[in-house]
Amino acid sequence: MTLPHVGVILHAEVSSSITAAAAAANEVETGGLLLGWWEAGNIVARYAIEVADPDATTSSWTRDEERAQQALEGALFDLSHPWLGYIGDWHTHPARCGPSNQDEDSIRQASRGYEQPLLLLVHRADDQIEARVAHQGYIRTLTLHQFLAN
Ligand SMILES: [Zn+2]
Repeated sequence: MTLPHVGVILHAEVSSSITAAAAAANEVETGGLLLGWWEAGNIVARYAIEVADPDATTSSWTRDEERAQQALEGALFDLSHPWLGYIGDWHTHPARCGPSNQDEDSIRQASRGYEQPLLLLVHRADDQIEARVAHQGYIRTLTLHQFLAN
């Protein structure tokens, strides 16, 4: 069985928030949640919100569940958009490398708890953003569509 590609639609605001957070975090990792919705086989990533990890290092950022939940509820309230919900995670790598095996494992594990696919975005030191999609425990192929800021 061949599963179809998952389309990922990345709003400019997502890339710019993640790039800004990476620059502010400087030499350590940072990360957070992706908010958006699913639409006709596509994941639409509309906003990226940061979840602070005071213990982040050059090679790790851990999502604190309590902080993440608070950030999610706060953002959903502030943005007050009827379709918005949690659709995945993002974090930065101060090194010039994309998602690690461990990163793929954690998004795969997390995706078992969701009916729809989850998205992982990793920002690299060279300002490239790499995407992975996991669906019910499996990594899926994807096509990335980026909206440019105007
Ligand atoms: Zn990583």
